[in-house]
Amino acid sequence: MYKGIAVSPGVSIGTAYCIHEVFVDPGRQLLEAQEVPAELARFENARKKSIADVRGLQKKVATQVGQDAAAIFAVHESILQDPALVGKVRGWITEQKMSASAALAKLLEFYRKLLEKSGDDYLQERIADIRDVVERLTSYLSTALNKESKSLSGPVIVVADELLPSQVVMLGNRPVNGIVTQAGSQTSHAAIVARSRGIPAVSGVNGILAHTKTGDTIVVDGREGHVIINPDAEMLAAFRKLEREFVNLRDQLAHNHDQPAITADGHELELLANINGVSDAQAAIAMGASGVGLYRTEYLYMIHPSVPSEEEQLANYRDVIAASPNKCVTIRTLDIGGDKTVPFLGRGHYEANPFMGWRSIRLSFEYPEFFLSQIRAILRAAAPDHTDTGNSRRNVKMLFPMVTTLEELRRLKAMVLRAQRRLEVEGLAFGQVDFGMMLEVPAAAVMIENMLPAVDFVSIGSNDLVQYLMAADRDNPKVSHLCQPLSPAVLRVLHSVVQACNRHGKPVTLCGEMAGLPQALAVLLGMGLRRFSVSPAVVPTVKEVAHHLTIPHATDLLHRALKLKTTKQIQSMLKAQLLAIAPNLGPILMQ
Ligand code: PEP
Ligand code: MG
Repeated sequence: MYKGIAVSPGVSIGTAYCIHEVFVDPGRQLLEAQEVPAELARFENARKKSIADVRGLQKKVATQVGQDAAAIFAVHESILQDPALVGKVRGWITEQKMSASAALAKLLEFYRKLLEKSGDDYLQERIADIRDVVERLTSYLSTALNKESKSLSGPVIVVADELLPSQVVMLGNRPVNGIVTQAGSQTSHAAIVARSRGIPAVSGVNGILAHTKTGDTIVVDGREGHVIINPDAEMLAAFRKLEREFVNLRDQLAHNHDQPAITADGHELELLANINGVSDAQAAIAMGASGVGLYRTEYLYMIHPSVPSEEEQLANYRDVIAASPNKCVTIRTLDIGGDKTVPFLGRGHYEANPFMGWRSIRLSFEYPEFFLSQIRAILRAAAPDHTDTGNSRRNVKMLFPMVTTLEELRRLKAMVLRAQRRLEVEGLAFGQVDFGMMLEVPAAAVMIENMLPAVDFVSIGSNDLVQYLMAADRDNPKVSHLCQPLSPAVLRVLHSVVQACNRHGKPVTLCGEMAGLPQALAVLLGMGLRRFSVSPAVVPTVKEVAHHLTIPHATDLLHRALKLKTTKQIQSMLKAQLLAIAPNLGPILMQ
């Protein structure tokens, strides 16, 4: 049994499909002179097939997930078509008599070194795209890999170092029952994809690839973070039962999308969704959310080759608003920095502690023209149009990430006023938007009483608040035992923030991953929180938990939790209590 980080709840069993680097030893791959033309043709054939693949993927992802997510495959196509890159491979085959696979391995090494030397985070990340393309090309050259993957039947559990975007999509053709990765964490690409698809997943499982072979039977327990390879009959039977319960529960929950988000004693909740683009907004409707509580605008910027203009931003925000439940959307300004980079900001920039550095509004402030264009685009997207009639009126809010001080809030307010004045002068229509802050920095939590008069609403970003409060990187598996939302320290801070907001009559939402954990939801309700924003796939779970809880019960659970001294004690108590009132939730209750 291996232990990792539980990143997507549920239990599943399947056949392991290990995604390894597929390269053969380049040293032994020298060609005879007469083999060169055939090898060039083989490479060309692999390149054509790969181009066809990525074009197909681009179309498929554009319809299934959205244009934003599909853009990565346009990048892959441009790599496959790049004359410099293709010329290098051809040159090595022709002049150095290397096999195509060996030349591709050399190519990857060449770019890895080149990009590492650049010291540019953004460029360094592009190595993942080159690797993705090289792996695709190599898989067309390597018959062994294709045979291996084709011979697998039934549901598979993907085991990988980390999942690349194309691998996740490619695997969409076959049933994927679970995902296990060596790298990654709650917020890694694999974790987000797994959660949005409701696939159990465990990340941060050190060394798992060395101990797993394709074809092994593998159990993924995404509640406890356990992975079991080739379990004995007894263990397998026990996990099969858990897997059945999980699948039954998932099917059953999918039916509650039109039921109200209400507690057992009739308190209504505002249940919203966190989204990255139009397709997530559509998923939010399908899952029964009543609006979008957090639109992360970063994605628009991360995939844009330069700076999206105000008009491009406006068009995107309008599309998102039109696609969202009740046309209700909270748009967050750019939250770049930390682990996220964009092509046009912060290039060649090195920081020892990026999460504590030049991130979010701290970065936007230094690009005032760009920042103003985003604020203007949000204000303009809030202007009513001919579709805003009767009950169908847009409700747009503006949210600023990583707010640390009152001075920042004043500066932000001044920028919004300036944008409004300019729009008036220019005669451009704009709408009224509420002005809100993300509460994710401990200093802001301490000073919340002073900050509340300056905002219309608060959105608690528990993912960051927890990592900053516990001084434990949210992406580092080594400290995940500390980065826990149910730690006594986190509960105390959240409780005081929610109480302060309620005292001041300022609406408060919690939009971190924490709100999707049933145990956490119970104590958050006990604190007086009534607004939650979660990943669309989790909306049905939140409704189900709420249907089982009364407010007095939730309050009692909070008080009991606050008397306990350790995270483990709190987690166990809440798990036991929830299981007592809703035994059917067992398969999705995480640690
Ligand atoms: C958070 O920090 O909880 C949050 C919702 O923002 P993000 O995950 O985008 O940092
Ligand atoms: Mg955050």
